Amino acid sequence: MLQAPSKYQHFIDNVAVAAASGESIAVVDPSDGSVFAQLARGTAADIDKAVIAARRAADGVWGKTTPVERGRILARWGLLVADAVAELGALESRDTGKPLRQGLADANALARYFEFYGGAADKLHGQTIPYQNGYTVLTIREPHGVTGHIIPWNYPMQIFGRSVGAALAAGNACVVKPAEDACLSLIRVAELGAQAGLPPGALNIVTGLGSEAGQALADHPGIDHISFTGSPETGKRVAQSAAAHHCPVTLELGGKSPQIVFEDADLDAALPVLVNAIIQNCGQTCSAGSRVLIAAGIYDRLVGLLAERFQALRVGPSTSDLDLGPLINEKQLHRVREYLSAAQAGGLEIAASGSVLPDVPGGGFYQAPALLASVPSDNLLFQQEVFGPVLVATRFQDEAQALALANDSPYGLVAGVWTRDGARQMRMARGIRTGQVFLNNYGAGGGVELPFGGVKQSGYGREKGFEALYGFTTLKTIAMRHD
Ligand code: NAP
Ligand code: MG
Repeated sequence: MLQAPSKYQHFIDNVAVAAASGESIAVVDPSDGSVFAQLARGTAADIDKAVIAARRAADGVWGKTTPVERGRILARWGLLVADAVAELGALESRDTGKPLRQGLADANALARYFEFYGGAADKLHGQTIPYQNGYTVLTIREPHGVTGHIIPWNYPMQIFGRSVGAALAAGNACVVKPAEDACLSLIRVAELGAQAGLPPGALNIVTGLGSEAGQALADHPGIDHISFTGSPETGKRVAQSAAAHHCPVTLELGGKSPQIVFEDADLDAALPVLVNAIIQNCGQTCSAGSRVLIAAGIYDRLVGLLAERFQALRVGPSTSDLDLGPLINEKQLHRVREYLSAAQAGGLEIAASGSVLPDVPGGGFYQAPALLASVPSDNLLFQQEVFGPVLVATRFQDEAQALALANDSPYGLVAGVWTRDGARQMRMARGIRTGQVFLNNYGAGGGVELPFGGVKQSGYGREKGFEALYGFTTLKTIAMRHD
């Protein structure tokens, strides 16, 4: 395995490029708070350089690369990532604090995204449309040109895979701004892309702060489409900036996703899934199942079972590979603690907590997971996204109330429904206002193939699956008169 370098630079035109400002950002290990590397602090000048490189590629070699060859490059890239899973997983785990097996899972998912979009690149075609006599009308899907990708810190490799993988398959050249807390794996992945055959400029990464490099990307008139994943506030700001130059945007903004459990549910199957849906990645998952809605008849029993599971959860450094690692940074730790203090001040009952190992390094960002019981729907904890390992449990009396509670949220990303009643499954699935509904499962094992995205404050547009390719293209209609 390679030793991680201590200084990381931008990746533009297939080479490492120093920050125009000459400044850097400290890279922190969330497990102990130590600084173990430095990162280029990008500004508008670096973004400009990356956009120029991408435009040159889009108008040049990359733009002329056939779909089948684009697909082969992505497929080769996927194989290179698969070979590097151990290295990428360990790097990600150190950089973001996630347990090692989650880092490895993310790297495997990235390889799978490249495999999927590599296979899809030459299968994206338009239609012929019947029109008046003497006409032939057809549609073609064309790349936007230069696409911008603003990636959060929670799943950098997976979100890069679903967004950049699809954009490149569709023929766009990309400029990527990862979160300052999670850049290292993506720089390594970009090097593998060059090795797989991506020509210079097809993929460019500029690291830096959101308010500097990220804002410069959203503002840049040379960007033809932006894919953003992150908070509703920053998403709104990015969309406003993009609107100033009529740039379309896809927003994926998180959620407060319900997991709804009816009396007839298979609790043995549901229980581990309910717990994992909130503790995975320390709850820092946009699609975390953070509200569990439970039928009155099984409420006490299921809360008891959940409490037992929560008490057994262990939190420790990323390398110890326990149930949970630390949170990403101090700010996130503070945010989660503020929510828990507000919950207690508001009289909510903490039904159970996990525990942080007694000997964790003092500088790490550790938080024990918590289960809050009997949370009313007008409570802050029911309505707002904590983005940490906090599960709220709420009782419902009947199906109508279950549906009303599920939809009583400013968000609409994912929902899970647990019942053996087929008609109820479909009534619930049709009634819930989210982008995805899982019946007797949750998250569907990653779901590279499954269109993903939200409604309401969870955002708009779809990534993942074949659907993403439509978002990363623009449709042209050609009408030919030949009578
Ligand atoms: P954030 O501000 O939305 O950051 C997301 C991405 O946007 C990062 O790459 C960030 O860069 C960048 N960014 C920040 N300000 C920007 C700007 N003015 N213009 C363009 N890009 C900008 O999220 P956060 O502050 O890291 O986390 C806050 C909360 O957001 C979390 O507690 C959670 O609720 C939510 N969140 C959701 C997701 C999700 O998957 N939906 C992911 C992460 C966070 P920097 O990180 O370098 O500033
Ligand atoms: Mg870090």
